[in-house]
Amino acid sequence: MNASDPNDLNDLIAFLDASPSPWHAAASSVQRLVAAGFTQLALDTPWRQLPARGFVQRGAAIVAWSGSPDSGPAPLRIVGAHTDSPCLRVKPLPDAGGYGWKQLAVEVYGGALLNSWLDRDLGVAGRLVAHDGSATLVLVDEAVARVPQLAIHLDRDITERGLILDKQVHLAPVWGIGAPSPGEFAAWIAAQAGLPPDTIATWDLCLFDRTTAQVLGPAGDLLAAGRLDNQLSCWAATVALCAAPTPTDCTAVIALFDHEEVGSESTSGAAGPLLEHVLERLALASGADRSQFLAQLAASSCISADNAHSVHPNYPERHEPGHRPLVNRGPAIKLNSNQRYATSADTAAMVQRVFDAAGVPWQTFVSRNNMPCGSTIGPITATRLGIDTVDVGVPQLSMHSARELCGTHDPIYLASALQAYFERA
Ligand code: ZN
Repeated sequence: MNASDPNDLNDLIAFLDASPSPWHAAASSVQRLVAAGFTQLALDTPWRQLPARGFVQRGAAIVAWSGSPDSGPAPLRIVGAHTDSPCLRVKPLPDAGGYGWKQLAVEVYGGALLNSWLDRDLGVAGRLVAHDGSATLVLVDEAVARVPQLAIHLDRDITERGLILDKQVHLAPVWGIGAPSPGEFAAWIAAQAGLPPDTIATWDLCLFDRTTAQVLGPAGDLLAAGRLDNQLSCWAATVALCAAPTPTDCTAVIALFDHEEVGSESTSGAAGPLLEHVLERLALASGADRSQFLAQLAASSCISADNAHSVHPNYPERHEPGHRPLVNRGPAIKLNSNQRYATSADTAAMVQRVFDAAGVPWQTFVSRNNMPCGSTIGPITATRLGIDTVDVGVPQLSMHSARELCGTHDPIYLASALQAYFERA
């Protein structure tokens, strides 16, 4: 593939379409990192010789760095994002159904907008793990299953009381006709991956909407796609790191975590030790001691990139009147004095300088006092590592829908600003 270009919206579209699961998002990032000269290091061996551009993968999480290995523990400039998105996951014993239908038992992953999963042609993507422990990425980009909505004739009061979906009862997709047959799905998905049916021990499998990302509107200024939250930021972080020359005065780092949508507490989530361990091993391999490592953390900064809410024209009252981000006006700096976001006055000023120097517009987001504020990986990384952090994100609509909407200019603004952050003298 060509060199990463933070100005290439088509590369974002390619990233989104190739990444229907967090493991595929990690693979899409790795593909770009390798093409830009990054070398993978194993987590389960000691590190002696460090490449100037390197990365590690743990599950669906990626940590990559770019910096001179001989310059000692230079300050870190970190960009964080997350690879996971709300979706339906295939349960371990999925063969279900009744009344003449074959269905799949699914589990809701994260805070999905359940209605958005109805009446869509769904594919299957994720990873299969064999009895011997080997893992295989699998992507079945075919119309495999569908969650059929109840007809309005059988749901007469839906318009008055709204759509009410029970996660256990109403979301099982149909995928065929006949009696459910134990083992049928396992044999089918194994064949899709080219594996013998009895080799699979278990899996991590997401259902996904097969509609590809689309530029929308006569002016071409909107982008509709699944998983914009937060693969958009994963793409921007990756291409910014790839495009920035290897810095000599700092170490540029991206940390793409899994499990943000379910609380981040895992070995590949932001609340786990992955990033801290990688940073400490980088410092130790460069000859630093622990005191120097802690001094390095204190001198470092982090931009936590996760999408923000644009003002919704049909629900303007849900937004704080003085802080209503619009699409294509630049990333929003997210502030919350109750620390749901990690942004401080100091880090907000820092990132404003980065945006201004890069010629990138920016906006400010705070939520209403009478609305709960979402959170993201920013406060978690700041708390775990003691690194000053700012939360920023591209404004979007339909967050956590199977099909989200943002502007076409903002992803480019974000990627350009992140590259400028890595390059800032
Ligand atoms: Zn997010």
